[in-house]
Amino acid sequence: MTGPGPYDPFHNSVPSASPYCDSVGAYLLGVLDDADATRFEFHLADCDACGAELDSLSGLGPLLAEYAAGVADPMASPSPDLLERLMREVSEERARKRRKRFVLVAAAAALIIGGPVIAASVSSSGSPSGSGSTVSAATPSAAAVARAADVASGAVAVVSMVDKGWGTDVSLTLRGAKGPQKCYLVAVSKDGEQETVSTWSVPAAGYGVPGHPDPLVVEGGTGFARKDIAHFEVRTSTGTTLVTVDT
Ligand SMILES: [Zn+2]
Repeated sequence: MTGPGPYDPFHNSVPSASPYCDSVGAYLLGVLDDADATRFEFHLADCDACGAELDSLSGLGPLLAEYAAGVADPMASPSPDLLERLMREVSEERARKRRKRFVLVAAAAALIIGGPVIAASVSSSGSPSGSGSTVSAATPSAAAVARAADVASGAVAVVSMVDKGWGTDVSLTLRGAKGPQKCYLVAVSKDGEQETVSTWSVPAAGYGVPGHPDPLVVEGGTGFARKDIAHFEVRTSTGTTLVTVDT
């Protein structure tokens, strides 16, 4: 006899009822612990609803990645309703799991609330013409987010892309990277051309692994326009592909 037992993300027959579907905001803001973040990313690979949610929040990913790296860009502030939704999700996550990693949340919230884009939208909302509130200034930057998890290698990658005049600005967040090894991120165009976006060395401790939970965050760029990119590959210097991220 089976009652409603503890939630098991790997044997969940009702995807829409997954608690992980409420965790997108918490994930983006970094309040999930590392085991949960990894489980969420695997869930994400199979859940269209969470994928769409993450895409809708994509303007925030690069902001948080930059904040985590200590180079916050206040110009990337999301809209107020987005902030409200994220904060609600985070508080629900907190209430459910009592996680304690609040420092990044508080810092991100301060950054978001204090952002110049929010300030601009607040002042423009006082328009006397009334009912229709136009806050187009608060639209997040047009970042696209793609993600993938490779069960064989254990690597989980999230790639944010922003169109630029010169090509595409690329931000990679990588978990499950074992060390020591050298890796690089390659952009592959729809024509089959390849460009190296960034290279890095994974220390022996690894990134986003037990004992060293912090993910790797690297920034780079490619001359390909975003629409011309077919996929990204994270490869090791020995030629192994750790994970392929379709765009
Ligand atoms: Zn989901």
